[in-house]
Amino acid sequence: MPAPHTPSGDAQDDDLVFADETPVVAPHGGGAWRVLIVDDDADVHSTTTFALGSLEMHGRPLTFLHAYSAAQGMAVLEREHDIAVILLDVVMEQADAGLHLVRHVRDTLGRHDVRIILRTGQPGYAPEMDAIRGYDINDYRTKSELTRTKLYTSVAAAIRAYQQIHALEDSRTGLAEVVRANTELMALHSVAEMTLGILREVAALAGQPADGLLCGCPPGTAASGWQVLASCGPAADFARDGMLAAGAHGPAAAIAAALAERRNLYRDDHLALYFSGKAHCDFAAWVRLARPLDELRRGLIDVFTSSIAVGLDNVALMTDLHRAAFYDALTGLPNRTRLIELVDDSLQTGADATLCLVDIDQFAETNDALGHQFGDALLGAVAQRLRLQLDGRLALARIGGDTFCLLGQADLIEPAAIQGLFAAPFSIEGQDVQVSATLGLVRLREHDANAADALKDADIALKRAKSLRRGGHFYFSRGMGVEIRERVRLMHDLRGGFARGELFLAYQPQVELAARRAFGAEALLRWRTEDGRFVPPDRFIPIAEYSGLIIDIGAWVLREACAELMRVRAAGHLDFTMSINVSQVQFRHPHFIDMLRQALSDTGAPPERVELEITESMAMEEPDLLIERLAEIKRTGVSIAIDDFGTGFSSLSYLQRLRVDRLKIDRAFVTEITDAARGSSIAEMIIELGRNLGLSIIAEGVEDERQAQILQTLGCPLAQGYLFARPLAPEALIEWLGSDALTRAA
Ligand code: C2E
Ligand code: CA
Ligand code: CA
Repeated sequence: MPAPHTPSGDAQDDDLVFADETPVVAPHGGGAWRVLIVDDDADVHSTTTFALGSLEMHGRPLTFLHAYSAAQGMAVLEREHDIAVILLDVVMEQADAGLHLVRHVRDTLGRHDVRIILRTGQPGYAPEMDAIRGYDINDYRTKSELTRTKLYTSVAAAIRAYQQIHALEDSRTGLAEVVRANTELMALHSVAEMTLGILREVAALAGQPADGLLCGCPPGTAASGWQVLASCGPAADFARDGMLAAGAHGPAAAIAAALAERRNLYRDDHLALYFSGKAHCDFAAWVRLARPLDELRRGLIDVFTSSIAVGLDNVALMTDLHRAAFYDALTGLPNRTRLIELVDDSLQTGADATLCLVDIDQFAETNDALGHQFGDALLGAVAQRLRLQLDGRLALARIGGDTFCLLGQADLIEPAAIQGLFAAPFSIEGQDVQVSATLGLVRLREHDANAADALKDADIALKRAKSLRRGGHFYFSRGMGVEIRERVRLMHDLRGGFARGELFLAYQPQVELAARRAFGAEALLRWRTEDGRFVPPDRFIPIAEYSGLIIDIGAWVLREACAELMRVRAAGHLDFTMSINVSQVQFRHPHFIDMLRQALSDTGAPPERVELEITESMAMEEPDLLIERLAEIKRTGVSIAIDDFGTGFSSLSYLQRLRVDRLKIDRAFVTEITDAARGSSIAEMIIELGRNLGLSIIAEGVEDERQAQILQTLGCPLAQGYLFARPLAPEALIEWLGSDALTRAA
């Protein structure tokens, strides 16, 4: 390496001074401007570092990186990214090696920020002007031109340019940052999350630790009355009980000023941000600053606040929606949806909690009698009393018109105590109103299902409680739920099964005891499910009735039984009667007569060969309607039998008014005629009754020959039962009628 020497010419301090060498690549200088020297003359490296090494530019020192060829220079540039200035020799390996490097930096590496000062040893050698223009070169000098002062001026100008380029770039990435922050904040759904997020983003844009608070208030409120929505860092101290502490020098004063001017105010030690919302609420933030903000950061924060204001507005709106979605407007209590969340939480923690529905007795009547306004006031009063007495210990919700719900530790939910809360009257519009409540309870610990199911179970318990006694309570037990859920499932299956044609009729022959001859049959509904299982009618018919499905099923039964009657007739049995069961629900249906007529006319079945069986219990209800209905039926020519006779308590006179045609002695009384203790008294009485009223009598459930004998002796001419035939599949009935099965059995 050549020894330092002093070239002839200018004054010492204004000369190129050569000092001893430093390593090829300088370590990254924190906060320093990095200058890369690319020159194949080592002397140039040392003189440059010597000339500039101790100087500061724009408040920051310089550090140097060294490359001794264009190739080395490229390698350094590929590795190092924050080089501010390249001092570049034009002539190195080749006469234009430096210009190649320039092209590489700009075109290949795409580095446009780095400033380039070209130097050449040969005075008079000028690179093409094109290169200088086209490649954004800051300065072009001969080495001898570059005295210390000139070198300094030139590098300082380049660094200033580099700084400006970066400021622009920063603001561009800063804006991108604002956009990102905005989008991220918009994804947050609660005011709490979003407001805290805003404080953090402002701090990030300010490049300082987060230390501030954000508050909101309805327009027109004094700044001291503002609610603090979020705070972070030491500034949290300014919030007292969620409110912004007043005071001339605290955040309150600064926020008041920002509000008055409706803009962001930047001070050396703090900033006050104003978010101009469209509706709802105004928002403002106060952020403490460790150091003043430069122009760029202020601009970014301005952009951020104006764009986020819209988002805050949306979140405020969303909060309103959230309230509407989870809270009851009348009482302000959590609603059903919210309660389900609470119950789910409780189920998850496995706490020993109880859910208690509180239903106000006779609320509908009160509401009807005294008006909705009164009803609302009563609900409000009940809510308030429950809240005053129970809040804090129990969660409280209103989940339906007059149904409240309590949730809490099992030992805190004491039915008598809860009902005790209704002992004192409620004062509504100056009137004392006395109400009671019925409770349905579920112990969640005994429950492995989800919250919605738990609530359903509580409802089942409540219904049971109501059916037992108003003002009482009932705890749900697992059995109740299983049974009801099972029924719901069965109802669903039945609906599908009926649609898929899984229902069919079986026919049980009815016989004359004396002649042992079949004169008719009872149509009995059967359900064979997809997997070949039979569900007994005693099980599915109540469900069909309960669900209303029986209307469609019943209409189908009528038509199908009539159609079978026609097939039997076609096989030659013209005096054959078809007996069809009709359920109460079906019978009461306003279109029942139409359905009956339709079945008769669709199939051509003769009405006098069709009999309807109605149960005795049904015959006892609503006598006037029944009498009218039966008269209508009789006008179609169809006859009527009372099924299960003897199990109800029909009065004689009533039976007469009903004008039925036949009584069916219930199987229970048939069974007991061979029983020594009970004997045949009831069967006898029914037979006697029938004879007196001029009604036909048939005994059902005859299982053995002795029963048949006794019945015949007692004067019962007709019977039905396993002794003669089981209910037969449709295809088997006609065959059975044509056979001598009966006479062989006798
Ligand atoms: P039900 O009308 O009293 O029908 C008589 C029931 O006794 C039938 O039961 C029949 O199979 C059974 N049975 C007949 N003979 C004997 C016997 O000798 N011993 C014994 N132990 N039982 C005998 P099933 O078919 O299970 O029907 C049960 C109930 O379902 C019927 O009682 C009826 O109330 C109802 N049901 C059946 N089909 C229909 C229908 O199409 N519509 C309506 N609404 N209800 C129906
Ligand atoms: Ca029957
Ligand atoms: Ca019966």
